[in-house]
Amino acid sequence: MENKFDLGIIGGGPAGYSAAIRACQKGLKTVLFEKDCIGGVCLNRGCIPTKTILHCTDFYKNLKKAEKFGITISDKAYDYDKIFNRKNDVVLKIQKSLTKLVQSYGVQIVTGEAKLCAADSIEAGGNIYQCNNIILATGSRPVQVKGMECDGEFILNSNQVLELSSLPDNILVVGSGAIGTEWARIFAALEKNATVIELAQNLLPLADIDVSKRLERLFKKDKIKFYTGTKIEKIENKTVTLSNGQVLNPDMILCAIGREPVLPDGIEFEKDDRFIKVDANFQTNYKNIFAVGDLNGKLQLAHSAVHQAIGVIDYIAEGKPVHFNPARVPSVIYGNPEIAWVGQTEEMLLGKDYNVSNFPVAALGKAMADDEIDGFVKVLSVDDKIVGAHAVSPEASSLIQQFVLMIDNELTTDVILKTFFAHPTYSEAVFESVLGLEGMSLSLPPDK
Ligand SMILES: Cc1cc2nc3c(=O)[nH]c(=O)nc-3n(C[C@H](O)[C@H](O)[C@H](O)COP(=O)(O)OP(=O)(O)OC[C@H]3O[C@@H](n4cnc5c(N)ncnc54)[C@H](O)[C@@H]3O)c2cc1C
Repeated sequence: MENKFDLGIIGGGPAGYSAAIRACQKGLKTVLFEKDCIGGVCLNRGCIPTKTILHCTDFYKNLKKAEKFGITISDKAYDYDKIFNRKNDVVLKIQKSLTKLVQSYGVQIVTGEAKLCAADSIEAGGNIYQCNNIILATGSRPVQVKGMECDGEFILNSNQVLELSSLPDNILVVGSGAIGTEWARIFAALEKNATVIELAQNLLPLADIDVSKRLERLFKKDKIKFYTGTKIEKIENKTVTLSNGQVLNPDMILCAIGREPVLPDGIEFEKDDRFIKVDANFQTNYKNIFAVGDLNGKLQLAHSAVHQAIGVIDYIAEGKPVHFNPARVPSVIYGNPEIAWVGQTEEMLLGKDYNVSNFPVAALGKAMADDEIDGFVKVLSVDDKIVGAHAVSPEASSLIQQFVLMIDNELTTDVILKTFFAHPTYSEAVFESVLGLEGMSLSLPPDK
């Protein structure tokens, strides 16, 4: 077999497989190395398995409200073992279809750990592959925290918790970022006693303050205990002492505080902290080696990885500079209701001349019909252009996408308000929040 390629990609997660497909679409002869399962963390240990479980637990939560909707169900119970198996089935199905999809483009997939032998050659399974360009897409893994080493039994990381087919009753979640918040919501929906501790002063520290405050309210409603501005002082014989003096005796700890890059062996790269340093075109200090996705530390999100991958292939194939603005990448936290944001928070704009509008979803007919009234859409503008949006709402993941388009295309409010928003929908909250920037939401009484 001729082992010469235009492009070698190490890592078959969202960054790697998207790059591979795009490369073949652009006519590059491509080889993709994956040491574990195609789909990476996203498909196997991240986005898809957690959202599959969350869908089941949200479904169960809604089922408990059935009477309110005129539906009688006498026996409401869940079987976590079945939820666990469903999660595995979904992952397996996608793994199979994704592998076929990648192969359908003519990508050569090599199963095994790849090492760099030189800037233009990769070794895997005893074979050498010559590659004109190389993309590193080796992703990230959970960090080990000193004093809180994950043993897979009492202290678990986000990989290990997905391996459990039953869950204990008292669970301590360390960290209230996306992973910690989503799991706390899963545990609470399954009637577990969940406690979250967060070192920062607010839950979801990267979110706008109104979002963090609303999450506090939602946690209280879901009976999730939380302590902010708090850390673990010590863990001894399964007894956890917190910095606020509280002593907890959980059955299990989920450690959800940060991820570190996975780097391939063979060549040393310049680093930015622990992550591979890249320039605006995601080039490393080797001209023909690029690093996309979690391992460059820009943003640890699947859609960010995919976007970087597309950009780099277009750069390699056509010389087009990569368009990537991390400030315009949306974030979503799943669960009921969803939480999503893009762009600047109000804290970032303090001291500047900005406009803000906050529209409660309770004012929407659709929210009343669905009995989903706990949420809001908050929008921020500068010089009549949207610069940030923050939603706690059913369908927030889709609502925020509308703001991404507005921000990316620098639309002014008068252009946005020429757009039709269907009724009754949650998208009307987008329309109403933008109307609110002019103090003229239709579904709210006048400002006092
Ligand atoms: C619990 C959890 C939930 C998440 N939820 C979301 C979400 O809802 N939305 C979202 O956008 N993001 C989410 N993420 C983040 C998302 O999973 C990552 O940002 C994304 O997977 C990064 O993609 P990647 O391709 O850079 O790396 P990865 O997905 O980590 O893939 C890297 C791949 O490289 C392979 N590899 C590594 N070294 C080698 C080598 N030497 N040779 C061959 N193969 C190698 C690995 O086996 C792996 O398959 C979540 C993450 C976690 C942990």
